[in-house]
Amino acid sequence: MEKKWSKEAVLEIYNKPLMELLYEAATMHRENHNPLEVQISTLLSIKTGGCPEDCGYCPQAARYHTDIETNNLMTVSQVKAQALRAKSNGSSRLCMGAAWRNIQNNEEFDQVLEMVKTVNDLEMEVCCTLGMMTEEQAQRLADAGLYAYNHNLDSSEEHYKEIISTREYDDRLKTIENASNAGISVCSGGIIGMGESDEDRCGMLVTLANMDPQPKSVPINALVAVEGTPLEDQEPVSIWDMARMVATTRIVMPKAVVRLSAGRTEMSDEGQALCFIAGASSIFAGDKLLTTPNPDINEDRKLFKILGLKPKAPFVDGDQPVSHDGYKECLSTSGNVKWNRPGHKIERNEAAKERAKVLRG
Ligand code: SF4
Repeated sequence: MEKKWSKEAVLEIYNKPLMELLYEAATMHRENHNPLEVQISTLLSIKTGGCPEDCGYCPQAARYHTDIETNNLMTVSQVKAQALRAKSNGSSRLCMGAAWRNIQNNEEFDQVLEMVKTVNDLEMEVCCTLGMMTEEQAQRLADAGLYAYNHNLDSSEEHYKEIISTREYDDRLKTIENASNAGISVCSGGIIGMGESDEDRCGMLVTLANMDPQPKSVPINALVAVEGTPLEDQEPVSIWDMARMVATTRIVMPKAVVRLSAGRTEMSDEGQALCFIAGASSIFAGDKLLTTPNPDINEDRKLFKILGLKPKAPFVDGDQPVSHDGYKECLSTSGNVKWNRPGHKIERNEAAKERAKVLRG
């Protein structure tokens, strides 16, 4: 078990003078990683929109009036074509996201398992983000060749309730545990800029850093405030806060791949360079991150050249999974799983909107 972190200890790191914090994080980064290698990942939305959840930041929630284009689940061959394209653009990892509350044991899940096997066969790290999942579902994904499962904590337990009312923090932790128990590498991080305090940011890092084992991958997102969502009027996150958050993450989770995720279009090249110095070791490529904008791949190539960075190969931090036919067998026939569904009031988001206005002053 790695070091146990307290909120006070993490806050102390987070609040250090920025130049000290950056120096410490950069040193930690060098001790644990090649600072010139950055993993390029592609995030592919395999099923977009129409989600029954109420995550206050998400344009894919069916209840918000956003202008995203909704799509049914992609076919396996569509995913394969996208994966090949991503690979030829330098991505070593493909993360497939579906706007589901949780995985259901049905034909769509079988289709996702085929996608996992297909992309793993292309020698790319395969990650999925499909909502909540049971232990049996995690095992089937592992058998299909899944390398990682993404399930973000989003924020601290306290602030989570302000952003999402349709499930509980404990549900998140349970899914993460299920992934980990199935031998799948855990990817879990959060979003800053949702009206949270510094204590909330550090509280989330404490929960992640005290996991055993710690997540191998930690995405740090800056909120992309999308019109029509309850958080549409949030102020953009400053680059200083982003660098501070990346640096603190690097120090408390030295071995993790820290992913500079959503919000890069709002960052200058210099700002992104600061985050790489602070310990960011991955970016997402492609012109879209699920539904929000992302820098063009040519812009990223230019920036890599200026900074002397190179894309990281797949499976540097873990072995490529072997696909077993077991994934074809549905291990659980126990019907639908009961997940927590507290509140579930649509009008709650009006209250969140009011709160966001107050927070903005
Ligand atoms: S973040 Fe995921 S679970 Fe939440 S509304 Fe969006 S798609 Fe649904």
